[in-house]
Amino acid sequence: MRLILFGPPGAGKGTQAKLLGQRYGIPQVSTGDILREAIKKGTPLGLEAKGYMDRGALVPDRVVIGIIEERLQDRDCAKGFILDGFPRTIAQAEALSLALKRLRRDLDCVININIDHEELWKRLTGRRVCCKCGEEFNIYYKKPSQDNICDKCGSGLIQRDDDQEATIENRLRVYKEQTEPLLGYYQKENKLKTAAGQGDIPSVSQKIYQILEENGL
Ligand SMILES: [Zn+2]
Repeated sequence: MRLILFGPPGAGKGTQAKLLGQRYGIPQVSTGDILREAIKKGTPLGLEAKGYMDRGALVPDRVVIGIIEERLQDRDCAKGFILDGFPRTIAQAEALSLALKRLRRDLDCVININIDHEELWKRLTGRRVCCKCGEEFNIYYKKPSQDNICDKCGSGLIQRDDDQEATIENRLRVYKEQTEPLLGYYQKENKLKTAAGQGDIPSVSQKIYQILEENGL
């Protein structure tokens, strides 16, 4: 089973990819993880990526796609894989198609976790994290019993820089401008399926499993 999990920041792609991987016995391939892995192993592409990251520059698509292509040839990907967080642009999607062609593999399905803007906004801006133990809360969905105090250890809760409204607004804008057009790209390729992303983690998982079953996967 070769899948891409797709959706805006806050849709729960990473969590769902992990659960899917466990259920079907295939690896979750997330760009951040495999970049770190390639750097740790000191592969030529890993070292090249490190050069860019050390300078605070974006790792170019050519390098990222090269690292992904290497990763997809590992033994554990023989049965399939779940890509999460990649591709993010049309150019990356085209490069991925070419890489898969070289590997003589084809994507089975692209699952879009669809979620309305208001819920996404609450999930992202409502997130609070304990400064000591790291426990996560959400002022809309998982309120601490006392405002700004961790239920687990009694320390203060903070809002990460990543979760500040301006940062989130920017992430959502970048997603809309650069990543959302991919929906049309995969629609044309007849690969796109949509799962409603509202509700808790298990209910979204169920919807994804149902889509896979309906498609004989
Ligand atoms: Zn705590």
